[in-house]
Amino acid sequence: MKAAVLYDINTSLQIERIALPNIENDQVRVRLVASGVCHSDWHVVKGEWPFIPIPIILGHEGAGVVEEIGSEVNNIKVGDHVILSWKRNCGLCEMCQVGYPNLCDVKADQRGQPHLLNSGRQMDKFNGLGTFSTETILPQDVVIPIDKEIPLPQAALVGCGVVTGVGAVLNTAKVEPGKSVAVFGCGGVGLNVIQGAMIAGAEPIIAIDILNNKLELGKQFGATHTINSSQVDPVMAIQDLTEGQGVHYAFEAVGLISDPFKQSILCTRKRGITVYVGHAPVNTPVDFDARILFSEKMVIGSHYGTCRPRVDFPRLLGLYKTDKLKLDELVTRVYPLEQINQAFTALGAGGVARSVLDLT
Ligand SMILES: [Zn+2]
Ligand SMILES: [Zn+2]
Repeated sequence: MKAAVLYDINTSLQIERIALPNIENDQVRVRLVASGVCHSDWHVVKGEWPFIPIPIILGHEGAGVVEEIGSEVNNIKVGDHVILSWKRNCGLCEMCQVGYPNLCDVKADQRGQPHLLNSGRQMDKFNGLGTFSTETILPQDVVIPIDKEIPLPQAALVGCGVVTGVGAVLNTAKVEPGKSVAVFGCGGVGLNVIQGAMIAGAEPIIAIDILNNKLELGKQFGATHTINSSQVDPVMAIQDLTEGQGVHYAFEAVGLISDPFKQSILCTRKRGITVYVGHAPVNTPVDFDARILFSEKMVIGSHYGTCRPRVDFPRLLGLYKTDKLKLDELVTRVYPLEQINQAFTALGAGGVARSVLDLT
């Protein structure tokens, strides 16, 4: 198979040919058709997540077709169209048993043989998936069969950005109709928080970003109001839009710097809920006056949209089929695998909702 490999931080990915091992009894071999290019991949390239081993095949937002299954694989057939989940779902640990497989104890990389380069050098796969490649071998619990009518580039995005954003609203915060929402960041995840808020029936939905073109995208995905936080204080502007009360829910979907996180706590009303969605670089501090929590404000994290992939992926695709979830609009640009580095450049420039690699 062919894969894009990161050999060192802040360097271009290299396209390599890699021999796949034979699958084991509980594994599935998937021919990848599409992979989204997510900010998490870029965090690794930039060295912001030093706990990720290198060299590595990046990519964790993929969809494809099942080519081969092991003898112990259940509920997956050769020829199935599938979305990949980047969290294991062992079914046995405490979190899996109580309905939170997004917090499963089993590590993503606990999944058999690593790929081998021709030189014999060991190669990890990001989040155990490594979707910047034409084929991958996976344990069956991360392979989620879907309706064959759904186009695979759109389906791929459900596997990370869409479920992370929409799930933070519907599963983590359980936003109620008619309540107010502020969303900090209109990137790939933030746009999905916005459309999740629209699906939940929130009003108003206030989008905050520093780029006007991203705020325009926010409107397309359901924002009723926009605030450019490079021009005005977003906390004051949100107070003005909510009769001085602040919002019921705020979502931090920036993940780069601490200011928006602090603002997302300050802008909620009494008993308001702030949901931390963005993945900040390691050791990003956030400082705020602890006493503001006396008004019973709540700050919670959302990991992978509190999703149960076998339940939520098909449900999200059902919303897409009935025009309630925008996926076509998210696929802003399509690149071949060989142009992965251009896709990262576009991500850094902030001009795209999502770039997708065509791996066919
Ligand atoms: Zn991602
Ligand atoms: Zn588990």
